Amino acid sequence: MAHFRWRQSENKDVPISGLAPRAIEIPAPGGPLTGSDGVPTLQSLMTAMATLRTASDRCRRLRLGWCVLSLIGLLLPAQARNRTRNVILVTTDGLRQEEVFHGAEEILISKQYGQVGKTNELKAEFWRPDPRQSREVLFPFLWGTVAREGQLLGNRKQGSEVRVTNGRNFSYPGYNEFLTGIADPKIDSNDKFLNANTNVFEWLNTRPGYRGKVAAVVNWDVLPWILNGPRARFPIWSGFDVPPGTRRMAVPPALDEMVEHSKTLWSGVLLDTFVRYGAFHAIGTIKPRALYVSYGETDDWAHEGHYERYLRSAHAFDRFLGDLWKRVQSLPQYRDKTSLVITADHGRGPAPVAWKNHGREITDSAYLWMAVIGPDTRALGERHDIAMVRQSQVAATVAALLGEDFHGANPRSAPPVAEVLGR
Ligand SMILES: [Zn+2]
Repeated sequence: MAHFRWRQSENKDVPISGLAPRAIEIPAPGGPLTGSDGVPTLQSLMTAMATLRTASDRCRRLRLGWCVLSLIGLLLPAQARNRTRNVILVTTDGLRQEEVFHGAEEILISKQYGQVGKTNELKAEFWRPDPRQSREVLFPFLWGTVAREGQLLGNRKQGSEVRVTNGRNFSYPGYNEFLTGIADPKIDSNDKFLNANTNVFEWLNTRPGYRGKVAAVVNWDVLPWILNGPRARFPIWSGFDVPPGTRRMAVPPALDEMVEHSKTLWSGVLLDTFVRYGAFHAIGTIKPRALYVSYGETDDWAHEGHYERYLRSAHAFDRFLGDLWKRVQSLPQYRDKTSLVITADHGRGPAPVAWKNHGREITDSAYLWMAVIGPDTRALGERHDIAMVRQSQVAATVAALLGEDFHGANPRSAPPVAEVLGR
């Protein structure tokens, strides 16, 4: 997570496709079709039926019934259609799609390319000749539970691409892109400056039913600036100083003390274990309806070229996801009403050398992955042959799972990923 600056001139923007289809707006014939609570009334539906009947001779009675059913679907408030009442976005910094979809890379389990000492032991633990088995031993939650009950996007070999579109392929631009829905060309450093763009958690915190029910537990001291803590107003904990005016989430004093005495490893980045503790603390105390959790050891160990530590961090991240899912399914407020969205801020270069780094000149570091599990996402497992998904679509997807229209309220942001919405 060191401060990498990439300042090449041209911005290799990728072609944009895979946008979620915009909802079709059907004009309400003869006035509003909904009652005061936004739900269609019987009388309004009868009126609609009569109007449609006379308005179109192509619409025969049988088709009309179908039309009206569709109308009901369109007119029902999104909240009523979605079963998701809570959403948790979890990211880990710079975890490659290569490991997510193909498991540990054999060539990197070596002294030469991955600084691995006991290569046989590490191979026995995390590597299998079949990449499908390799990925299962490394990510048992993603390939056990999410592959069975949710969706995984980004396997390029299967015709699924998830891409960073800010052209920078490093942290601040990436976090900004998925949190605010805007691939902002003005953001070109990891310095601590307050982000001008509105993030989806900040916006949710202004929506009815969410104020005081939004929180973020993050591993990197720059994230409270990326989230614009003073303006966002929801509580944030990073283990470090936050920008003046930010609401700092309260954690048990023992956690702050442990963090204080663990700063010998990296400056500005927490060990993931503290993030894990903070996230569960937030769920137990604030009981957020929208929570952002940021992990990050994967990036730091990779930059140090330490493939064993990178794999163990990736495996621990998966374990956290599994424990988090178990926890939310054990609590009445969250059980069967919570969606998890899981992704990363950027990819990395290919083996055997460039895997340590990422940035504008490493084109492969624009490739990402994304996973979603929850009551509003069809159990399609590993997706193949689908339209490209942009990193900027994550923000509106987080909101859309809750039935909230972030893209509509912030037209500069990208639309949600239609593929993961709707049963
Ligand atoms: Zn990063």
